[in-house]
Parts: sequence; structure tokens; C-alpha cells
Amino acid sequence: MLQLAQNLGRLGDENAFTVLARAQALAAEGRDIINLGIGQPDFPTPAHIVEAAVKALRDGHHGYTPAAGIPKLRQAVSADISRRLDVAVDPDSVVIVPGGKVTMFFAVMMFAEAGREIIYPDPGFPIYKSLISYSPATPVALPIREENGFAFSADELLARITPKTSLIILNTPANPTGGVTPLEEIDKLVRGLERWPDVAILADEIYGQITFDGLRHASLLQYPQLRDRVILLDGWSKTYAMTGWRMGYGVWPNPLVEHVRRLATNCHSCVNAPTQWAGIAALEGPQDCVRDMTAAFDERRTFIASALNAIPGMRCVLPKGAFYAFPNVSGTGWNERTLAKALLEEAGIAVIAGTDFGDAGKGFLRLSSANSLENIARAVDRIRVFVGERKLSGQDAVA
Ligand code: PLP
Repeated sequence: MLQLAQNLGRLGDENAFTVLARAQALAAEGRDIINLGIGQPDFPTPAHIVEAAVKALRDGHHGYTPAAGIPKLRQAVSADISRRLDVAVDPDSVVIVPGGKVTMFFAVMMFAEAGREIIYPDPGFPIYKSLISYSPATPVALPIREENGFAFSADELLARITPKTSLIILNTPANPTGGVTPLEEIDKLVRGLERWPDVAILADEIYGQITFDGLRHASLLQYPQLRDRVILLDGWSKTYAMTGWRMGYGVWPNPLVEHVRRLATNCHSCVNAPTQWAGIAALEGPQDCVRDMTAAFDERRTFIASALNAIPGMRCVLPKGAFYAFPNVSGTGWNERTLAKALLEEAGIAVIAGTDFGDAGKGFLRLSSANSLENIARAVDRIRVFVGERKLSGQDAVA
């Protein structure tokens, strides 16, 4: 009998990938499937970024790079942050990794120990809880509430910190809700954190450039009093439509960088070289691609929220950032899991159940607006017809 580590059983998953595989299998059978499941922009990576990778390959960038990333790329990240957030970042504190997830993984591994607690948003990106559960630390859920427009509450967060807390994970703009936490709430949190100087914060700001209604993203990196304990997670996946390239970055407090570099060396050695050159082109090239994609997401989220609000039994907060809508579907009488499954199998619409993002997602669905307006309109129409016409059997209903 193989002696597998017990914690493997506690490692979670990301159901969006399972739904994607099922949606693709149904489409391969010839079914007309509209995918509002997976969280990736439906745009191709802008051409000048692709060309930079091709050129890097042609120029012979085929070998290992420094574990923390090509110096020119770390400098480009630092310059980009200073341009966008007006914060000076030492390029040496930037570590390039294969996707935003890796910064998350390293942060949790660095702060998790038996007897310690890590606070994470619920509903939230499912990998947060999965990683904490896999680690020896205890996950502590911070509820993210619909009535609060899906912003997190500083008071609720501060009330969950104890002397055992080693790390807090925050995400704004947020997946799966599209919520953006306002500046005043973040100010309040930062004031409260003064009482807890030993608690580190992982600020997942991967959707930081996708905000609407003229809202400016407030970054935790902008608070000098937190600089020795904030880890910024960001990357190229969402901003530049580069999910498949697998690259992200962390900005770490300087004393932690050496640990991250060693973790990277042990784990993946470095991100592949051509992708890093593409990353430089993304940050140093024209930024109208980011503005254009955000404008498209803006148009779609307004449409999707109002179309969902017109379906009896559904209500949807207007998302303020990212590219998700998180409608409350409890008024339809459906359990969110069976509804998500039935929508895919019977109506050909891929969506994700709210509970795939945590227990507090009960009664909600997540719809990604990373599809054309035309497809979104067709999808929401099918949802309306399905919910209106399909008879609920006992097992489909709200538990
Ligand atoms: N953080 C959040 C909140 C996300 O939604 C995602 C991806 O969906 C990630 C991090 C991971 O991004 P990447 O694909 O760069 O690993």
C-alpha cells in the first residue's frame, strides 16, 4: 500500500476547470454550448505581445533565466507599478512566477504552521481555502456579503484576527463576485491592522485594472505603514489576456525575497524566457488594449446584471470590477448546484455554482462575462426560459 501524505486528501480543486472540460466535451458532441464558466478573457493576447515572444525565441532566448525573473522584466514591473499606483517599488522585491497562483502558494507555505490561522474571503477564489487546508494552518472564513455590494468589511475582518493569525488574504476587485472594496473601508482596515503588527497580508489584486464607473483601484501597496508585511499578487493573465502563458508576479517585503527565490529555485527554476520577454512588451507597450478590454467588460456587466434582474427569482448586484456577475438565484427555488448542472446539461450554458467558491456562495451562481455580448444575450435568454419553464423536481430544489 502506498503511503500517501494525508494532507493530499485536504487539497481542494477549482471546479471551473471541470465545468470547462464538460462544456468542451458537450460542444465536441455537436451541442451548442455558451461558456460563461471559465474566468479568462475571450480576447486574444494583443499582437505586439505575441510578437515579442516570437522575437525572443528567434533571438535565442532558450535557456534558464534568474529564478526571480529577468532583471529587465522586474524593472518593467516596478516602473508599471509606479506609473499606475504612484508607489516606488524596488525591482529586487519583484519575483516573477508561473501565474498568479504561485505567489499565493508560496505565501501560504511561508506563513502556515500548525496552530496558526489564515483568514480568506468566502465566497472567494477556491484555491485560497484549498491551499490553507492543504497546509498545517487553520482556514478562517471572512464572509463577503451581497448586502455590502460584495465589498469586504474591515470590522468583520478585524474581529477575526487573533494572536494565532499569521496571514490574511484579501482580493479586490474580487472573484467570484465582481465586488470592489471602497477606499474608506481599506483605510479603516489599515488603521485596525496597526494593532496586529505581526500579521502579513496577501493582497490579490490580479483584477486591479478592471474596474468600472470611474472607480480607481486602491492598492494595499499604497500604505507605507504596511510595506514590511504586504505581499502584492498580480500578473498578466487577466489584464493582458495571457492566462495560457502562465506568468504572474509578487511584490514581497524585502526580507522575504530570498525565501521566495529559494522556493522558486526548488519548484520551477524560472518562468520560460520568451514569456518573460512578452511580459516586458505588455508593460512597456501601448496600454489601449487594457482600456479596450475593460470597456467591453463594462458594457457586458451592465447588460448581464440588468438582464438577470429581469428574471423572476433572480437578483444581481451590479459588478464594480473584474469580469464576473454573481446573481442570487435562491428566489427561483433551485439549489445553485443542481441549477448550474441542469443549465449546462439541458440548456447548454456553462456557469459555476456559488458554493464552488465557499459555503457563503450558497444560493448564487457565477457568470463570467468573458464572452461576446451577443452570446451573453443568448445565454441569459436561455436561462430565463429554462428557469421559467423547467419544472423543479424535489431533488433540484433549495435544500
Ligand atoms: N487570483 C484570482 C482572484 C483569480 O481569479 C485568479 C484566476 O482566476 C488567479 C489569482 C490566478 O491567476 P493565474 O491564472 O495568473 O494563476
